Amino acid sequence: MSECIFCKIAAKEIPAQILYEDDVMMAFHDVAPQAPVHILMISKKHIISLDDCKKEDEELLGKMLNKVKEIAKSAGMENGYRLVINCGEDGMQTVQHLHFHLLGKRKMTWPPG
Ligand code: 5GP
Ligand code: ZN
Repeated sequence: MSECIFCKIAAKEIPAQILYEDDVMMAFHDVAPQAPVHILMISKKHIISLDDCKKEDEELLGKMLNKVKEIAKSAGMENGYRLVINCGEDGMQTVQHLHFHLLGKRKMTWPPG
């Protein structure tokens, strides 16, 4: 867990452009943005992926999902946004710590790549 980059960001051992933080989550700008605004929302708790969430994590997941709109609005995404959770190998998850991608300020395409 000590090698987890998002745990290190949550512990402020690695700097990030933090937009929001409370006792259970943090939001910061992605270092390699895929849209004009690309925010990552992470749980402070080290959970590997959506696949690894347990019953006890339901409140945390609900809080994170319900916070999306507030962070989106504060980042200027008045016209909508896309929320992405990559999970596992086929989902192309590269950081093994639960996170939401919140992308906006451009028109998205569908289907995603
Ligand atoms: P995944 O591919 O796991 O869904 O997303 C991981 C995301 O984390 C990628 O978009 C990548 O750019 C971002 N990322 C990886 N390392 C860092 C970092 O040290 N700082 C920040 N801000 N973002 C990172
Ligand atoms: Zn972690």
